[in-house]
Amino acid sequence: MQKQTVAFSKDSSNLFFHILTRCNLSCTHCYINREQHGANTLDIDTIRDWLALFSKKAAQTNVIFLGGEPTLHPDLHLAVKSAKGLGFKSITIDTNGYLFHDILDKICCDDIDFLSFSLDGATRHTNDAIRGEGTYDTVMEGIQKARARNFSCSMIYTVSDQNIHELELMPDIVRGLDIDRFFIQVIGIRGKSSKTDGKLQVSKETWLNIIPGVAETIAAQGIIVTYPKVFLDEDETFQCAGHVADNYFVFPNGRVYQCPVCEDFPLHSYEIKHNKLVATPKINEKDLFDLTIPEGCVMNKMIQPQNLAYNESGDPEHKIACCMLKEEISI
Ligand code: SF4
Ligand code: SF4
Repeated sequence: MQKQTVAFSKDSSNLFFHILTRCNLSCTHCYINREQHGANTLDIDTIRDWLALFSKKAAQTNVIFLGGEPTLHPDLHLAVKSAKGLGFKSITIDTNGYLFHDILDKICCDDIDFLSFSLDGATRHTNDAIRGEGTYDTVMEGIQKARARNFSCSMIYTVSDQNIHELELMPDIVRGLDIDRFFIQVIGIRGKSSKTDGKLQVSKETWLNIIPGVAETIAAQGIIVTYPKVFLDEDETFQCAGHVADNYFVFPNGRVYQCPVCEDFPLHSYEIKHNKLVATPKINEKDLFDLTIPEGCVMNKMIQPQNLAYNESGDPEHKIACCMLKEEISI
């Protein structure tokens, strides 16, 4: 079993491209905030222009098409082919499983690297309570259809206190699905989750008791498992990805963030204006990346401090890692 912390690097970039914010579902933890991200759908010419803005480093940039639900975009297949033509390092579509507009008929398995399906419970009861009636079965059918056409598939499980109790059932669920990767994500307190007063977050003790063990059990099946570090060990150095990595979270209203935790606020570093990437004036997220605090991530302390704990002297008991720092386990 190999376990490694995936180091941040300026040599590798990720372009999280929200081509629309519309969705057929209404998940209870949805992070999309249309007031901040726009409600428009980008037309295919604009998608091509915006992909081109990031194509200078195409060979080292992973493109992830997102929404909303990206398969609701009638021209997603053309967007995929444009990204492929521009030579991006990898192309992924994140989907809720509904696979609208016959997307599997319009692209082939060589056009993309992964179709990534979201499932937030090991049982219909729990998943459908979070994601909506029928979504569990739709994801399972979607994976079967995609695998029948040789698409490489992955699964994303967003952990909160609503579903962590079922994570230990997931190794049995994924057995036989023939997926290549399993991503555990931590709930972010933004979008709809920000209305819950942080109660969705799980404690450090619960996280460490459950997540690494489940990750290893799934990895033992030959699936690469990735999960966020969240809590730094004492001997680990804190790094903010805003400084040491190249991540771009692009929204259809033209906002471009470098930190997903900032997405509920007009703190974006860049804006796409007239098809040019323009730096925004102060104060923006970059000014926050520069702050050093004993708790680690500044945005975590400002937005979702419920996962912090302090000793009697008032010092933090642990540092919170950058939300983009991941552990990866494989055999
Ligand atoms: S599928 Fe994604 S975009 Fe749609 S409601 Fe759920 S979390 Fe939001
Ligand atoms: S999550 Fe925190 S550490 Fe990571 S980029 Fe954002 S502000 Fe920086």
